[in-house]
Amino acid sequence: MRICRTVAEMRETTAAWRRADETIGFVPTMGFLHEGHMSLVHLARTEARRVVVSIFVNPTQFGQAADLAAYPRDEARDLAMLEAEGVDAVFLPDVETVYPPGSETVVETERLANILHGAVRPGHFRGMTSVVARLFNIVGPDVAVFGEKDYQQLRIVTRMVQDLHMPVRIVGAPTQRDADGLALSSRNVRLSPEDRAAAVVLSRALDRAEQAASEPGVTVEALRAVIEDEIVAEPRATLQGLDLVTPDTLAPLEGPLWGPVAVMISAAFGEVLLIDQRVLGE
Ligand code: AMP
Repeated sequence: MRICRTVAEMRETTAAWRRADETIGFVPTMGFLHEGHMSLVHLARTEARRVVVSIFVNPTQFGQAADLAAYPRDEARDLAMLEAEGVDAVFLPDVETVYPPGSETVVETERLANILHGAVRPGHFRGMTSVVARLFNIVGPDVAVFGEKDYQQLRIVTRMVQDLHMPVRIVGAPTQRDADGLALSSRNVRLSPEDRAAAVVLSRALDRAEQAASEPGVTVEALRAVIEDEIVAEPRATLQGLDLVTPDTLAPLEGPLWGPVAVMISAAFGEVLLIDQRVLGE
């Protein structure tokens, strides 16, 4: 497994593969890897001959310095997991490598970045697209895999590559969960044992909504009420965002349910903000 820390090292590695007509699959991450990330690596492996994983905790997508400082990191463990998985190369740049001194170019999807989760985390998605565009330019993948858990992120990246004519195919991967249903997340380790137990309310609320969505004549408002009731009944959860939107443009839905709806939830447990999502009625 090649470990690349500079742009030149990464480009030499992928250029050699491209000369040999080998396709490149790419999985961008912020490290502290878990089985959710590994499922993306597996999927990338089925989509391309070579797999590159990047580990970069991107400062421009964090609103608060404290959240950035608290983000968990374990490079040695991450590398061991990727090696065991047969990953071909890991890109591990430092901040100055990704953002050279004087760097000022941003990439932003104007509407998608500033609605829903983006409305409560100003600048988050602009930071995300600004780093993903740079990583795509450095790695030059044929295909890149993103988790459906971060649903708005997946939609934004898909829009960005269309808008900027980037020659990268974006593939979404299903959310991996713990046995009780909690979506795997690097942030879960920061939950107290009580909050960890309570956090299962998010997937439970989505289960309830899925049941309700299968009933004839159900409305978007009724689905919202089912989810809200479930989460409000859990005192350790503070509901921050609940959106029922069209799966592609993320436009708000209302009235009778007649097609697929993406349900996006964010809730705080103590200091830790968790998100979950599901597309119903597909
Ligand atoms: P992160 O390291 O949190 O930036 O996540 C890197 C990639 O892994 C993103 O595309 C996430 O959507 C994806 N991901 C994170 N958690 C999960 C999960 N539980 N299941 C599937 N993909 C995930």
